[in-house]
Amino acid sequence: MAYQTINPYTNDLLKTYPNATDAELESALNTSDQLYQTWREQAPVTRQATLHQLATLMRTEKHALAQVLTTEMGKLIGEAEAEVTLCADIADYFADHGADMLQPTSLTTSAGKAYYAKQAVGILVMVEPWNFPYYQIMRVFAPNYMVGNPMILKHASNTPSSAAAFADVVSRAGAPAGSLTNLFISYDQVKTAIADKRVAGVALTGSERGGAAVAQEAGANLKKSTMELGGNDAFIILDDADWDLVKQVAAQARLFNTGQVCSASKRFIVMADRYDDFLAYLKTEFAKVQPGDPLDPATTLAPMNSARAKQKLQKQVDEAIAAGAHVYAGNQPIDLPGQFFQPTILTDITKDNPAYDQEMFGPVAAVYQVHSEAEAIALANDSSYGLGSTVFSNDPEHADRVAQQLEAGMTTINRAWITAPELPFGGVKHSGYGRELYQLGLNAFVNEHLILNA
Ligand code: NDP
Repeated sequence: MAYQTINPYTNDLLKTYPNATDAELESALNTSDQLYQTWREQAPVTRQATLHQLATLMRTEKHALAQVLTTEMGKLIGEAEAEVTLCADIADYFADHGADMLQPTSLTTSAGKAYYAKQAVGILVMVEPWNFPYYQIMRVFAPNYMVGNPMILKHASNTPSSAAAFADVVSRAGAPAGSLTNLFISYDQVKTAIADKRVAGVALTGSERGGAAVAQEAGANLKKSTMELGGNDAFIILDDADWDLVKQVAAQARLFNTGQVCSASKRFIVMADRYDDFLAYLKTEFAKVQPGDPLDPATTLAPMNSARAKQKLQKQVDEAIAAGAHVYAGNQPIDLPGQFFQPTILTDITKDNPAYDQEMFGPVAAVYQVHSEAEAIALANDSSYGLGSTVFSNDPEHADRVAQQLEAGMTTINRAWITAPELPFGGVKHSGYGRELYQLGLNAFVNEHLILNA
C-alpha cells in the first residue's frame, strides 16, 4: 500500500512517503525495547513534564497542526483546531492524573501483606484510522507514556503527514527516541511486529475487517488487544423529550466531521406522532450546510476524507434505495471537485434492507418511526454494533431506565455524543472491546502485579 497525502478538497496528490524497510522496523523495536528497560527503572511521575510540554506545544501550534489535518483528510478547520485542543487536554489529563492512577493498590487478605503494583508491559503496536488523525493516537499515547509502554505507530495510509506531524511534536516536547515511532509499514510488517517477543499488545481503531485481522494476529500470539471499531448509534427521542433541546443537537450529532465518526448518531428513532416534525426539522438543518474549502471558516460541509470513502458510501446508499429505502432529502451531487457528499436522510429502511445493520460512515441519517418505548429499545438493540447511544427525555429516571437497557458501551442523556479525557470510550458487540481514556484506558496495558509478603 502507498502512504500518500491527497487533498480531498482539490484532489491534488501532495506527497508520497516510502514504506519502511524491515530493517527500520527492527531498529525501531530495538530502540523501543531499550527505552522500555530504562523506563522500568523510573517512576511514572518522571514522564509527567514531557506530556505537559506536549500539551503546551500543541496549543501554541494549534493552527499549523490543524492545517495538516484539513489539508490531508478534509475536515473543517474549526473542527481540526478543536481536535488539537482535545489532544492537548488528554495529554494534560494523563500528566496530571497518570502517576496517581498507577499507585499500588493494597489488598485485604489473611494470607499476609498484599498489594498489586501497576507496571508497564512492553512495546505496544498502535494501528490508527484517518477520521481523527491526532486524537486517535493521543488516546493511546498519553496514558501509555505515563505507564511506560513505548509505542510503534502504524497510521492510515491516507494520513501519513498527520502521523509525521504528531510524531514530530512528541519528539520536540522532549519524549525520548523510541517512545513513539511512526513507521509507514505494511500489513505484513504489522503482523511481524505483533509476533515479536518484545511487543506486548496492540491497540486498533478502525473497521471490523481491519480489527478482526489484527485481533486474530494478537490472539495467535497470545498478546492483549483493544479494538475500537465502528458503530451504528441510536438517537432515541422518547415521548417526554424536550424538543427544543433535541433540535439544538440532532443534526450536528450526525454531521460533525462530515459524519465520519464511529460514535456519531446514525439511527434516529422517533415516536410516530413526532416523526414528520422531526424529519422536517432534519431536512431544514441538512439543507443549511455550505460546502466549500474546509480551510475557509465560513464552510460548514467538508469533503469526505477520500474518493474511496465517498464511493463506498454512495454504494451503500444506492443499495439501500434498491432495497426499498426512501430518500427523504439529499443524495444529489455537489458541483465541486472535492469528495463532497450531500447530507442525506433515508427513511423506510426495513429489516431486510442491507442498510438496516450497516454503518454508514458519512453524512447519511437513517430515521425510523416507532409506536412505543419498548419498540424503540428493541430497534436500538437490533444491531451488530454497540458503541454509543443517546436518549432524550425530560424525566431523568425515565431516561436512565431506558439508557440501562441499551446494548452500548456509552449512552448520553439529553446531549449529543461526547468524548473527553475523563470519560471512558469504547463499545460492545462488533464495536469492539476494551476502553480508551480515563483510568480504564490507562489500565488497558498494565501488569497488575500481585506482591504478597507472608
Ligand atoms: P480500516 O480498518 O481499513 O483502517 C484503519 C486502520 O487499520 C488503518 O491504519 C489501516 O491501514 C489499518 N488496517 C486495516 N486492515 C489492516 C490489517 N489487516 N493489518 C494491519 N492494519 C490494518 O478502515 P478504513 O479506513 O477502510 O475505513 C473503513 C470503515 O472503517 C469505515 O467506513 C468505518 O466504518 C470504519 N472506521 C471506523 C473508525 C472508528 O473510529 N472506529 C475510524 C475509521 C474507520 P491502511 O490505511 O493502510 O489500510
